[in-house]
Amino acid sequence: MNATPAADAQGAETAGQRTGGCLCGRIRFTTRGPAVFPHTCACRHCQKLGGTPVMWWVGFQTVTWTGEGGEPTWYETFEGEAKRGFCPTCGSRLAAIDSDIPEIGINVTALDDTCSPDLVPIHASFRGKAVHWLPPVPENKHSTAG
Ligand SMILES: [Zn+2]
Ligand SMILES: [Zn+2]
Repeated sequence: MNATPAADAQGAETAGQRTGGCLCGRIRFTTRGPAVFPHTCACRHCQKLGGTPVMWWVGFQTVTWTGEGGEPTWYETFEGEAKRGFCPTCGSRLAAIDSDIPEIGINVTALDDTCSPDLVPIHASFRGKAVHWLPPVPENKHSTAG
């Protein structure tokens, strides 16, 4: 894991990795593993924290913080159960850790490439709290994610 990969293994090592970061660039990250359960969320916390009617989430097995700013600043939305990470310099929303979910949540908008088909939301959480003027994510949309 911490050994430097041999040159001929470099391709395999970087396959499936994605990069992202905050607006100011102090916090950068690399994800590993497939995109898990891409979805939108219109819950009260997402609207308040995001400053937006809906947030766009996806899970990854592993996220490594690579920028000079290190890890995001974590705010516990439910003490001991859920926390949300943001850049303390520019305020960008970046990540979420929930005690009942094995993956780390990433705000898709923080990824460098948000166009990958496996990031298209397959579910809309808290659909009932969503603003009425934004078309909802269609239900039962099939995902290409593992
Ligand atoms: Zn920043
Ligand atoms: Zn939410």
